Amino acid sequence: MALLLRESHLRELLTMRRLIPLMERTLAAFSTGAAVQPLRPVVPVDPHRGFLAVMPAYLVTQEALGLKAVSVYPDNPSRGLPSHLATILLMDAQTGVLLAVMDGRLITEMRTAAVSAAVTAKLAARPPRAVALLGAGVQARSHLEALREVAVPHDVRVWSRTRDGAERFAAETRERLGLHVTVAASPADAVRGADVVCTVTSSRTPVLEGAWLEPGLHINAVGAARPDWQELDVAAVSRSRVFVDARASAVAEAGDLVVPLQAGALTAAHIQAEVGEVFAGLHPGRTAADEITLFESVGLAVEDVATAKLAYEDALARGIGGELSLT
Ligand code: NDP
Repeated sequence: MALLLRESHLRELLTMRRLIPLMERTLAAFSTGAAVQPLRPVVPVDPHRGFLAVMPAYLVTQEALGLKAVSVYPDNPSRGLPSHLATILLMDAQTGVLLAVMDGRLITEMRTAAVSAAVTAKLAARPPRAVALLGAGVQARSHLEALREVAVPHDVRVWSRTRDGAERFAAETRERLGLHVTVAASPADAVRGADVVCTVTSSRTPVLEGAWLEPGLHINAVGAARPDWQELDVAAVSRSRVFVDARASAVAEAGDLVVPLQAGALTAAHIQAEVGEVFAGLHPGRTAADEITLFESVGLAVEDVATAKLAYEDALARGIGGELSLT
């Protein structure tokens, strides 16, 4: 009998406070060879402007084996659906037996932001107070929730493609989290004077320009998870010290890097390290207060299976979830 964990179960089980250190350990394990994770195959569904990706991994340190199937349909919000939908299968690493089938949408939402928060705590020049969000969707919300665990965001600025989207986000955040949130008229306005910028859009073309970056800034670039999608222009990447979640994935999947690499504007040597190397103490990370640091995130299967294993073990201990039999 496998365990069935719906999104409502996972909401009871997962907190940012626990996910942030888990992501730190997971990425350290990944970057020190304690994980098996191939590049994810991606099936484009061009007639419907979507794609399906399959993300398997084995994380040795946590004996976490499984896979996530994630479909990404950026136009879904206009249909009243999330742009990202996902399902995770968790297996017993010793026998391969199916342990659990669970929602992967909330795990994607939370683990991505938990990783950015862990990285921000490590790479930001100072405890961030002014936070700029470019994008006002699911990841914008979860990034703010996660950043609150590692910082005191007194001054949150949000910009989105539609003014309405940014206004809705600001009103909801003020009410839910009691934070001071203002809507910026342009990405440049949002970024001016910020300690941390999170780019969390589905944009295919740059929304953050190098000319706007101020010394000491830290950037979490989350949205450009396909090789032809860019959120940062080439100047923004060139001016930054670049950290990635996985080198192999970043140079194949992150448009912010793939486009300048293919154009010859950068070489792979511009990538300083994987953030897991920083978490493992193998790389110093930021070395001066005036550096601009950039974390380019594509999202890894190890983050999903680590979170799924944590949720599974807690669900068993707390008697949460349903039963599912395939026999
Ligand atoms: P949502 O659909 O919830 O939000 C998307 C946001 O992007 C909205 O603010 C929307 O603006 C904006 N947007 C959409 N199209 C454009 C455009 N052409 N130009 C500028 N802005 C645009 O998505 P999520 O928050 O879930 O995801 C955001 C990004 O992060 C996506 O690219 C997604 O693939 C990526 N992602 C990365 C992960 C990782 O691990 N690195 C994991 C999960 C997601 P408006 O509403 O105003 O139209």
